[in-house]
Amino acid sequence: MPSLELLEDETIWRQTLGWQPSAAQQAVFQKLYAEVVAANQQFNLTRITEPADFWEKHLWDSLSGLAPWLNPDFAWQLPDALRSQALQVVDIGTGAGFPGLPAAIALPHWQVVLLDSTQKKIRFLETLAQTLHLPNVRGLAGRAETVGRQPNWRERFDLALVRAVGTAATCAEYALPLLRKGGVAVLYRGQWSEAETETLRPAIEQLGGAIAHLQPSLTPLTQGQRHCLYVQKVQPTPAEFPRAVGVPAKLPL
Ligand code: SAM
Repeated sequence: MPSLELLEDETIWRQTLGWQPSAAQQAVFQKLYAEVVAANQQFNLTRITEPADFWEKHLWDSLSGLAPWLNPDFAWQLPDALRSQALQVVDIGTGAGFPGLPAAIALPHWQVVLLDSTQKKIRFLETLAQTLHLPNVRGLAGRAETVGRQPNWRERFDLALVRAVGTAATCAEYALPLLRKGGVAVLYRGQWSEAETETLRPAIEQLGGAIAHLQPSLTPLTQGQRHCLYVQKVQPTPAEFPRAVGVPAKLPL
């Protein structure tokens, strides 16, 4: 198994994220890489398997959305309630565990629920969390539209992470019902424009949210454009959301 040499590159972490993993965290990231690549031979988890690609597009990219918690000098100052060490976090549509697993490794005081509609992925991720000794991770198999209507999950989380699961409006409809008031959804996007923010704003407001910050960045190796939208829940989400299974993706707000 090739090693992720970039894990040890203090300069690239510091210059791009204002944070760097400890030696112990580097070892866990390396093991995560080995386990995902090995499992990928059994079932299709990810197309990103080359070492530099995996480092940039899975690890760095996942962690870039967490910069407000990793880097004290980040451009957006966190709301007080979200400075707590012990946040309840959900990663919606986690796939092979991104961004939720890097989050749980980098911020071990967070309790992270990995949510995906594919039972097989969740079974794999639960075993992987044990292999990586991550007691702060649990899996949940289900659709975001269903889970977001269940009283034991609705309004339960401080933070919702959503990467590569649909349009921004679809992701917001999955995330906002799961957040308690004051919580934040981190919507990972690629290219993004001011015009898209304005188009999205009415949908966010309908869901009880407000756009708190938009953070552009470039990935360190291939200069890919990324944007993270931080959406804070300021009002309860109306009971009609999320709509029935499939509707938020088919007819985004
Ligand atoms: N977030 C991961 C990443 O960035 O690498 C995986 C992205 S993958 C393209 C999308 C994942 O979302 C798939 O694993 C799929 O099963 C899951 N998914 C799609 N719609 C969902 C929904 N409504 N509820 C829960 N999971 C969903």
